[in-house]
Amino acid sequence: MAELVDVVVVGLGVGGEEVAGRLAEAGLTVVGIERDLVGGECPYWGCVPSKMMIRAANAIAEARRVNELAGAAQVQPDWAPVAKRIREEATDTWDDTVAVERFTGKGGRFVRGTGRLDGPGRVRVGGQVFQARYGIVLGSGTRPSAPPIDGLADSPYWTNHQAIEVEELPGSLLVLGGGAIGLELAQVFARFGVQVTVVEAADRVLAIEEPEASEVAAAALRADGVTIATGVRANRVSHDGRSFTVHADGTEFTGDRLLVVTGRKAHLDELGLDTVGVDASQRYLPVDERMHVRDGIWAVGDLTGEGAFTHIAMYQAGIVVADVLDHMRRTKGGPDASGTASVLGGAAGVVSAVGGSMSAGGSTGVPGSVPRADYRALPRVTFTDPEVGAVGLTEQQARERGINVQVGYTDLTSSARGWIHKAGNAGFIKLIADADQGVLIGATSVGPAGGEVLSALVVAVHAAVPLSQLRHMIYAYPTFHRAIEDALRALK
Ligand SMILES: Cc1cc2nc3c(=O)[nH]c(=O)nc-3n(C[C@H](O)[C@H](O)[C@H](O)COP(=O)(O)OP(=O)(O)OC[C@H]3O[C@@H](n4cnc5c(N)ncnc54)[C@H](O)[C@@H]3O)c2cc1C
Repeated sequence: MAELVDVVVVGLGVGGEEVAGRLAEAGLTVVGIERDLVGGECPYWGCVPSKMMIRAANAIAEARRVNELAGAAQVQPDWAPVAKRIREEATDTWDDTVAVERFTGKGGRFVRGTGRLDGPGRVRVGGQVFQARYGIVLGSGTRPSAPPIDGLADSPYWTNHQAIEVEELPGSLLVLGGGAIGLELAQVFARFGVQVTVVEAADRVLAIEEPEASEVAAAALRADGVTIATGVRANRVSHDGRSFTVHADGTEFTGDRLLVVTGRKAHLDELGLDTVGVDASQRYLPVDERMHVRDGIWAVGDLTGEGAFTHIAMYQAGIVVADVLDHMRRTKGGPDASGTASVLGGAAGVVSAVGGSMSAGGSTGVPGSVPRADYRALPRVTFTDPEVGAVGLTEQQARERGINVQVGYTDLTSSARGWIHKAGNAGFIKLIADADQGVLIGATSVGPAGGEVLSALVVAVHAAVPLSQLRHMIYAYPTFHRAIEDALRALK
């Protein structure tokens, strides 16, 4: 017998936990199913611990800059406090008791296990079956995927999990993959004294960003002692029990450990999608602009393939929450919140509570009006030192779309703040404008605070602020973001 509940959420990563918690707070009966740790990749093996590692590594780099700016400093890097902080402060030694209580404290019902669709409206977890009155939300995320390189699958290579959990650093490390995660971790380990080699198949690292960003990031890592090999397509991996060798045509690289960060994959085949008539052979689960997979099923987060970021999962979660409540209202008798209240015995408070919190996330909060996903101003930050922040289209993407493109570029070192900053001041601002519309459609901000400076550019792209307005703003002196004004002046 299936047990009737309002909503079932499969996978309580960033996206699923947010949806499940907010719907539970709104008074719905919500079952949240998680097979591993509530919170998912971000707090245990992703954003949070990696940024703690970066914070520590950057402190080392900053201390070394004392020699150029303020006398002399000797630094003795020690991984032990970093590992301890990750264990104790970030992850509770990879224990999610607090996160489970956070969810149940909001009124949710937690089930540990692997959830699988079991026909329309139903989810099976172990021997239990739940029938969802209003809907099912899938938030099962992705897992690291390794390329089909001969010998790799049989070797004890690291994913981000082992790299984050490491207690004692290896002497040398090969990093397969020069994307954001590969570069962040490569720089951290190098700053703690590990001999790091990054092997990347594309002809540059950070290949999805502007070429200038790739150059600055590569130069920064090389200055930290990282060897960067681009345009190298690994064709075999061997492991002799002590060290790894990555073989490529005409060359090979050896290291004590091998970290593979070449991409991630959604495992749609595990979700029982066939039982509801959805094709499970795709790389990601396509959703519409309200996160619908099909009637009564929503998806959220990395699973949707819309950009693997916590802020995307949270943004989508806000849309799902609003849409599920809207769907519930309609099911229960029309879009009128007062009608909903009588049917749900007081759930009008639910609607206004969610409307209130959604307004921070972009919704109008008006019953019946659900925000639509819009990724035009999707921000992304690679937390290397210098940070690489980007929003919207790159120059190449804009040109490929046939847009009448203007580009404005300025080097951060020649800005007042960059010059003052001196050691560690590499960076630039690059703006991509649509000359016909007179607005920015993309921007890259690289520098010591590249990710923070990005926020002004995200507002500009998101709100399509006219270039004339941006040119007549006042930019505080001497901030890093003041370089935006120089880049605007350089637009041509
Ligand atoms: C090293 C690293 C650094 C990162 N740094 C950043 C960063 O700085 N900023 C940023 O925005 N993003 C960052 N990310 C990405 C971020 O972690 C993800 O975008 C985010 O975790 C996605 O959340 P999610 O809810 O979609 O999926 P996940 O966090 O992957 O959670 C999915 C959950 O579903 C569970 N699950 C899967 N299938 C089932 C099932 N059938 N039944 C029950 N449970 C199931 C899984 O166990 C998992 O807990 C980083 C990622 C990595 C790996």
